Amino acid sequence: MPPPVKDRFCSFCGTAYAEPLAYPRTCPNATCKVTVWANPIPVSVVLVPVRSEQGTGLLVVRRGIEPRKGMLALVGGFLEEHETWQVGGAREVAEEVGVTVDATKLTPLWFTSTEPRPNRVLLFSVAPTLERASLAAFTPSTESQERGVIHGPQGLEDVFAFPLHIQAARKWFESQGLTGPHRFTPV
Ligand SMILES: [Zn+2]
Repeated sequence: MPPPVKDRFCSFCGTAYAEPLAYPRTCPNATCKVTVWANPIPVSVVLVPVRSEQGTGLLVVRRGIEPRKGMLALVGGFLEEHETWQVGGAREVAEEVGVTVDATKLTPLWFTSTEPRPNRVLLFSVAPTLERASLAAFTPSTESQERGVIHGPQGLEDVFAFPLHIQAARKWFESQGLTGPHRFTPV
């Protein structure tokens, strides 16, 4: 069986689109003629600083699912239809690592498109700093194998899943004057 292809048929009237398939696609049915687009999708990613006797680092999750299963990532995900980037980002932090952040207190850090395909727009923001001792207990899940804090900007390529998360983390470390090799602490 050939791999499934998205949007082969008009979702309004069921008419097949003409080959070759490209976006935007306009329905050939003269009484329908609806056009669909494949717009880039926003992803809200929240940097959560966590302070302990070891200093302040960033909350990360060890991915339990592909892509880059087993590597570390900042916490975030796709927005739902009714969500602002703030509300969606805070929800992802709660779902993935069981940490409560105040959606009204997220501040924008950086936004960027993915490469080479710019089919996602990553919206990086920073949450207010949390105390390590205030974090609720973490329960691993299929999606999130481990919760931790990463200290230090150097060598993140060895442990982080996504280059743009490394860039965002480094922007934050630089803004805090934090240098040195990375260290991971489970929390
Ligand atoms: Zn149609």
